[in-house]
Amino acid sequence: MLKTAASTEGQPTIFDKILDKTIPSTTVHDDDLCYAFADINPQGPFHCLVIPKNRDGLTRLSNAREDQKEILGHLMYTAGQLGKANCPEGFRTVVNEGVQGAQSVYHIHVHVIGGRQMTWPPG
Ligand code: IMP
Repeated sequence: MLKTAASTEGQPTIFDKILDKTIPSTTVHDDDLCYAFADINPQGPFHCLVIPKNRDGLTRLSNAREDQKEILGHLMYTAGQLGKANCPEGFRTVVNEGVQGAQSVYHIHVHVIGGRQMTWPPG
């Protein structure tokens, strides 16, 4: 089933509640710029989401401004480190974008999924 973009894009999301601890999450990584936590609906033995602490308009990848290259790099770097540490045989990083990309939460996030054999193409 296709997910649809929230008409409230740009408004606070469930990830803001995770960041302010209103909603509990299982911490995978925490630093000054980003937070990573276990996905509530894991698609593999390991599945976490890496999100910027300051969304700053980064609802989706295509909204990124040139001055946000550093945080985008930090998210990807962190995803790689978490994948390496938790899935030594390999892993997949995913950034879903918009309706056809099956994005459901409009606070940019990098999925890190591993611990099983992946297939290609993705669904
Ligand atoms: P998207 O579909 O790429 O936007 O990914 C959103 C992800 O957030 C999905 O994989 C959901 O399972 C996950 N998710 C939604 N709500 C929660 C939550 O409260 N805790 C952890 N993960 C969540």
